[in-house]
Amino acid sequence: MDNIDQLLQLSDQQIGQFLLSQDHLYKKISEQQRSPMIQQAIECGKTAASNISSIDLWEYCRQEKIEIEFFQETLKAENFRFVLAEFQLPNRIRINQSLLKAAAPFFAEQNLLNGQQVAEILLAHELYHYLENQQQLFTVQQQLNYQTGPFKRSARLHSLGEIAAMTFAQELLGLAFSPVLLNVFLLYPVAPEQAQRMAKQLLLID
Ligand SMILES: [Zn+2]
Repeated sequence: MDNIDQLLQLSDQQIGQFLLSQDHLYKKISEQQRSPMIQQAIECGKTAASNISSIDLWEYCRQEKIEIEFFQETLKAENFRFVLAEFQLPNRIRINQSLLKAAAPFFAEQNLLNGQQVAEILLAHELYHYLENQQQLFTVQQQLNYQTGPFKRSARLHSLGEIAAMTFAQELLGLAFSPVLLNVFLLYPVAPEQAQRMAKQLLLID
């Protein structure tokens, strides 16, 4: 991978724009709404991180009675839409151990993170999803009102939760770069073409 340095330098706003652009309702969000929404989601993630004083996230999850499960799957490049980790209501976090294992040599070679740190970043991200639901944070409350033909609709923008979860994990763990890059780095050893494509998409954001 040759553009790692550029990826590491992306700003919060750029990452936010990328994540918002992945939302299936993106086209329904007016241009004036985009920047303020991204900013609010970033602030929401930062505030949630500042409210956590615990240093040991695993212990924090135990106290909150959150179940953590490491799952395995057979990794094939053609099924490149892997789940890195997920949060299931009300209190379960699942982490893809197969991807972590497959990516370990890549992280070691790049001298970026060790396996334990990667798992912790994924845990922190999913912990945000637990908190946003439990505390009904901005990213759960915010509704987008839009029109489809004659119908007025209102829906949640899931990308705002993604933006906040990434900021939350970054702040909480004091990372120099956005955890969104794990989407690229964890994919790279298994499906390099898909990972490169995502890296290019990220770098196209201005
Ligand atoms: Zn998420």
